[in-house]
Amino acid sequence: MTAANPLLALDYLPALESLGDDYYDIVPAAEFPQHMLRFRNDDLVRLLGLDPATVSDEDFIEAFGKFQGREPFLALRYHGYQFGEYNPFLGDGRGFLYGQVRGTNGNLYDFGTKGSGTTPYSRGGDGRLTLKGGVREVLASEALHALGVNTSRAFSLVETGEALWRGDEPSPTRSAVLVRFSQSHIRFGTFERLEYHNRPDLIAKLLEHVIDVYYPEARLFTDAQERYLHFYKELCDRVARLAAQWMAVGFCHAVLNTDNMSITGESFDYGPYAFMDGYDPRFTAAYFDYAGRYSYGNQPLICQMNLKALQKPLKLIMPEADLEAALAPFKDRYEAYYQQLMLRKLGFESLADDLATALVSQTIALLSAVTVGYHDFFLALAQQFSPAWREHATLIFSTTLQASDAAAASQLDDWRQTYYRCLQSLDAEKMAGVASLLKRTNPETVLLRPAIEEIWEPITTDDNWQPFYDLLNKVQHPFGQG
Ligand code: AMP
Ligand code: MG
Repeated sequence: MTAANPLLALDYLPALESLGDDYYDIVPAAEFPQHMLRFRNDDLVRLLGLDPATVSDEDFIEAFGKFQGREPFLALRYHGYQFGEYNPFLGDGRGFLYGQVRGTNGNLYDFGTKGSGTTPYSRGGDGRLTLKGGVREVLASEALHALGVNTSRAFSLVETGEALWRGDEPSPTRSAVLVRFSQSHIRFGTFERLEYHNRPDLIAKLLEHVIDVYYPEARLFTDAQERYLHFYKELCDRVARLAAQWMAVGFCHAVLNTDNMSITGESFDYGPYAFMDGYDPRFTAAYFDYAGRYSYGNQPLICQMNLKALQKPLKLIMPEADLEAALAPFKDRYEAYYQQLMLRKLGFESLADDLATALVSQTIALLSAVTVGYHDFFLALAQQFSPAWREHATLIFSTTLQASDAAAASQLDDWRQTYYRCLQSLDAEKMAGVASLLKRTNPETVLLRPAIEEIWEPITTDDNWQPFYDLLNKVQHPFGQG
């Protein structure tokens, strides 16, 4: 007798389903020729109140590879601005909402698939995900989570044994289905579609649902207008914080279309993303982003524009002036979050305002002037920091940073003096705290592109997954194992 599958026995809640079929289409899952479990997230199994030892690989495959034992699957309807152009033909084209469950923390989570077959929104696509695409999303979401970014996670990755043809991968290429674990798959574009169809009633209904589940504190306002405004203000703040997190960890999402913006302010959907190597605001990750619209440095501004775009549907149920006023502080909020995160990467929980501003801006100026990896710089700082730096400015980075020219040399000198003044502003006994914060905020392993390509090679040539598991383990513990 086989025990019941604990993944199927979870308490699935029809949260979105109960809103009615204006928001989704019921779709079947594809049948795949093979099922090979390549990744399972036992951290998340525990978050669901299960002991990973009681969940077998077969259980994962039954639920999240063969999609047996549960229905309905909901392909979510949405539109979106893609590279600035409105696209009314979007929607879940290769995925669906598998189900919604509560974590032991009380939060509601989505299991959302990617690569599970065609839907009414596939637009001629095959509804599939390449194995490499799946591997890249697993790595990105686990790396970002470990770095403290508010992100969706990967729950499972099952290789499915089909041959896919893609313009951006040597083809035929291998197939997989990913299950994503996220706060929500409701996007800015979900609301944009309802505006397109001129359905303020459906916008209000969906917004009340979003507030109930993801902004419960807004329920304190008995007045609907106050509730809506609280939601939008809080969303703007969450998105400002998310943009600051991406920027501080040196991450370029690459496809910040409004259909890839979660209504919860969580980061998700990792396609052609990249962590940048050297500091460069113009760094662009997607080969098809010819104009650099979604470059690393543009991300805060694009997030602000996307929040502005969301006003169009929200305007159907609330005053535009309120929305404008709520968005106005975005830039300041972003800068405050960014400054705080960068200060921590520099070893300081807090500093006098003028020192903090000078240190962060001079660090950016220095990183722009010298040839050094963004992550290498901060890791070197963490590794070389010594309490003696507080006594002698000349000791600060005395051996590593080589200035390439006179302008860079003077930047380095300025930076050293400022860092010295910051250290001097703290008591000597605070230096251990600086050393420890530097180690806790600056990763030893960063998911740079060459690291991903390196693990991909043994997978394609020998089906050797060990380098993938090694890299995954490193990015899951970026500040060292101990
Ligand atoms: P993305 O760029 O991954 O956010 O996807 C944009 C849209 O294209 C979404 O509606 C996807 O569901 C759809 N899509 C992407 N790849 C495929 C595919 N292979 N088959 C069908 N739809 C796809
Ligand atoms: Mg997407």
